Amino acid sequence: MRDYFSEQGAADEAPACPIVKSLKGQKALVTGANSGIGKAIAVALGHAGADVVVNYVTREEEAQKVVAEVRRCGANAYAHRADVSSEADVEHLFATMIEELGTVDILVNNAGLQKDAPFDELSLSDWELVMNVNLKGQFLCSRAAVREFKRRGIRRDVSVSAGKILCISSVHDVIPWAGHVNYATSKGGVSMMMKSIAQEMAPHRIRVNAISPGAVRTPINMDAWGTRDAYNSLMTLIPYKRIGEPSEIGRVAVWLASDDSDYITGATLYVDGGMTLYPGFETGG
Ligand code: BGC
Repeated sequence: MRDYFSEQGAADEAPACPIVKSLKGQKALVTGANSGIGKAIAVALGHAGADVVVNYVTREEEAQKVVAEVRRCGANAYAHRADVSSEADVEHLFATMIEELGTVDILVNNAGLQKDAPFDELSLSDWELVMNVNLKGQFLCSRAAVREFKRRGIRRDVSVSAGKILCISSVHDVIPWAGHVNYATSKGGVSMMMKSIAQEMAPHRIRVNAISPGAVRTPINMDAWGTRDAYNSLMTLIPYKRIGEPSEIGRVAVWLASDDSDYITGATLYVDGGMTLYPGFETGG
């Protein structure tokens, strides 16, 4: 049997550049794109032919590596520092992108963080920080994207829709999470925000969907997979019995952003190896 504990993520390798470019000509913005899932999505969209803005807030050198990987396969990319919870930063991020690349076709709301604490020790500042980045950030970026999508309308040569928003949520938009009340609340909010925007924007041919990852091998949750014991205990929560790789989220994002999924809006795709399937009942309950 394969030892998934010790395997490294495919996203860290430099794969051959794909020949099929389902997103050719499209302009994508990925927030929090210098590590983890955001990085894998930015690379996957770039490899699918989209020009990519790699947003980051710290560690510019990591953002530049993502830019280089997108360019290696022929698409355009640049890095832009912006705090998604700042209205001024977000407005500047979008204005620059429209100036540099002409428009925005795909927004991936990925930037997010955890600040974990037992509920009665959770500080107001950690509550606000998580809400500001995970929820308000997705609101500010979605609003700016929708304004641009409506202004521009459909460009038939690149896509049959006027624009696509992907909200990166979490299995914790439906699974309550003790010790992580701020995080789970923010993701529950993302889920309802996504569906409400999708409903309002569908007549404008703007699609809004969510990807809800389960346990994926990224720095945010290294505590859950970094040692053999932690990994084995994590497996009791995953019917598919392996951790997810960031590149797997990247592939789903490419499909959800492409015209292949054009009739899908307001949906959440759980990419979680079955974590939302009540794994406690695996053996009959
Ligand atoms: C969290 C991870 C966690 C996973 C499954 C994600 O949303 O960011 O820390 O491992 O959910 O519980």
